[in-house]
Amino acid sequence: MKHHLQLPIFQVISDTAAALNVQAYVIGGYVRDIFLNRPSKDIDFLIIGNGIEFAEQVAKRLGKHVNVSVFRNFGTAMLHYQGLEIEFVGARKESYRNDSRKPVVENGSLQDDQNRRDFSINAMAISLNKVDYGRLIDPFDGMEDLKRKIIRTPLDPGITYSDDPLRMMRAIRFATQLNFRIDAPSLEAISANKERITIVSKERITEELNKIILSEKPSIGFELLFDTGLLKLIFPLMHELHGVETINGKSHKDNFYHTLQVLDNICEATDDLWLRWAAILHDIAKPPTKRFEPEHGWTFHGHEDRGARMVPKIFRDLRLPQNEKMKFVQKMVALHLRPIVLAQSTVTDSAVRRLLFEAGDDIDALMTLCSADITTKNEYKVRKYKNNFELVKTKLIEVEEKDRLRNWQPPVDGNHIMEAFGLAAGKEVGLIKNAIREAILEGEIPNSYEEAHAFMLQKGMELGLKQKK
Ligand code: ATP
Repeated sequence: MKHHLQLPIFQVISDTAAALNVQAYVIGGYVRDIFLNRPSKDIDFLIIGNGIEFAEQVAKRLGKHVNVSVFRNFGTAMLHYQGLEIEFVGARKESYRNDSRKPVVENGSLQDDQNRRDFSINAMAISLNKVDYGRLIDPFDGMEDLKRKIIRTPLDPGITYSDDPLRMMRAIRFATQLNFRIDAPSLEAISANKERITIVSKERITEELNKIILSEKPSIGFELLFDTGLLKLIFPLMHELHGVETINGKSHKDNFYHTLQVLDNICEATDDLWLRWAAILHDIAKPPTKRFEPEHGWTFHGHEDRGARMVPKIFRDLRLPQNEKMKFVQKMVALHLRPIVLAQSTVTDSAVRRLLFEAGDDIDALMTLCSADITTKNEYKVRKYKNNFELVKTKLIEVEEKDRLRNWQPPVDGNHIMEAFGLAAGKEVGLIKNAIREAILEGEIPNSYEEAHAFMLQKGMELGLKQKK
């Protein structure tokens, strides 16, 4: 085990422990990640004694430039050293009350502290004490669970999840990140305790949800959330996407599994959390817009606009930011059908110009979303869509090079119009401005100042305006 402890910090901690005559261990995620070969910059040290005093002694040894941040309420201390985030905590024993996930805490032994950990793979410790430096202390067979790829609680799962229901989200998050299976008794306990999730803050739930979304294959996590009943409680609108209805022998697809497929697809193309959120929300308004029309079958008219309008409340409920990230997701949801609709008919320059104008700098993100959205099971259709879609992409590049429409503003603006005709701001200015924009987007006139100016004069005359001398 010693070869895993090459960083100088381990020796410093070991020396400090010897000097203070207390015991110290590396514990938790860092130990787990050693055996998973996932390099980690966060190290947790467990001190059998006072973690804060210990941290202050360590900082002294490391030199003047090292500052300790102390969190007295939690009995922990943190410092940064050589790019590492190092945390110290005194060993504790915990007991829980029913109405809070915050335990009653008292000082404890190494074993007490390992007992309070969430999963066997997160409860392993390595000794930094001189007598047995480098010894692994693994009371719950975490090593075996790492090999078998299993998430299992050290103690009774029913009690573990009920005590701190955030652990249910953590179990599903680790299963997704590591591609592990949740042990059957644990999975049953999560379903049985799902209602307890209501005592966890929305912020903490969303933090775990975002970690699931940022995993390689988020569908693993969402399927677990769905199967355990948690999804319905934490994100009911996504839950509503589930299910298939059949009328006159015609069924629509299951929008929940479709959304998961789109999400997994997009994860192969981007690490961006917000574009991944756009994939989750692109069809969110399908349930409220769903209708059966005898002549067309199932329709979801306007689900893109309705979905975009739903985004701010969804973000607010999930405590996601109300800023430009939200606006970006809204825009993606609103425009998600556009490239594919384009690809289904003759791809004209003017339609491409319009799309570029509306999507602006987010056009590449939109195309990524739209590619990910092609999930039909029919291979022939997929090929046909994809070919046409490639054509849209080529056209986009051509038109963009020719017309430079990204973040475009028409070459003649409102001030210019007012100046030319001696007008005050008003209806006519708007009319002329729109007419110029439309003419350029439709390709009736080129995107140049001279042509736009001439067009403006002509429009003004049609409206009975006189040019100012
Ligand atoms: P990551 O860094 O990927 O989030 P981690 O395991 O380091 O993984 P932390 O949240 O930093 O996650 O937690 C550090 C350790 O603290 C865990 O490995 C686990 O032993 C313990 N722990 C964290 N949260 C809980 C909890 N809710 N219940 C019990 N133990 C927990």
